Amino acid sequence: MATEISGLNKWYGSFHVLKDIDLTVAAGSRIVICGPSGSGKSTLIRCINGLETYQGGSIALGGVKLGDNAKETTLARRDTGMVFQSFNLFPHLTVLSNCTLALRRVLKMSRRQAEDIALHYLEKVRIPEQAKKYPAQLSGGQQQRVAIARALCLSPRLMLFDEPTSALDPEMIKEVLDVMVSLASEGMTMLCVTHEMGFAREVADQVIFMDQGRIVEQARPDIFFGAPSHARAQQFLEKIL
Ligand code: ADP
Ligand code: MG
Repeated sequence: MATEISGLNKWYGSFHVLKDIDLTVAAGSRIVICGPSGSGKSTLIRCINGLETYQGGSIALGGVKLGDNAKETTLARRDTGMVFQSFNLFPHLTVLSNCTLALRRVLKMSRRQAEDIALHYLEKVRIPEQAKKYPAQLSGGQQQRVAIARALCLSPRLMLFDEPTSALDPEMIKEVLDVMVSLASEGMTMLCVTHEMGFAREVADQVIFMDQGRIVEQARPDIFFGAPSHARAQQFLEKIL
């Protein structure tokens, strides 16, 4: 699903957090967003998912402008899946119930139908054997894969990832990135905030560098990592590579 962001501006009180953001995410493309802490990456992702309001500009998901009317916005939002740094699973529900909850409550599916879909995606993230467990019984990497499966259950046309591996121990990062790489290879449209540069090089069509609320550089990964044109991007890369 194509996403069009045009002239986006957002303030938290008097703090100008997003400044004149223009970004097109074509259907089937993969975009990685990086940049220093506080540069507005999460805020941008949250605006696209309708979790934050904004004061200027527009966001259109699949041609539907967010905010035009509540019903259209709800439908557009249903097309986006979001994965957070902190997993955000419901601790009192099993893995399977975490995945079936929205299918049953929102889409009014039968238990049987919802569980079939949930198990399909739990297999996709290579974790079907954990279906009856509770989140606290799983490792961080497993919990994050459940969070990805849960998002996929609603058949999103755009997947948003906000630093999905930042809270994980190093040995678990790869199992989550592997799932993201296979999603990309199946053609999922993806917008990923991540500092995993190996992942960016492997799957991203474009890398975006944000600083102080602005997109200051957008380039193909080979160009961005080879020779970023912006001084702040260069300094940033020197720190993380
Ligand atoms: P990033 O994800 O790039 O680290 P964020 O989008 O989380 O950056 O935050 C950008 C800036 O906005 C930061 O300076 C942060 O402190 C500020 N900020 C984030 N959320 C809020 C909020 N709810 N109210 C006020 N300021 C906020
Ligand atoms: Mg953030």
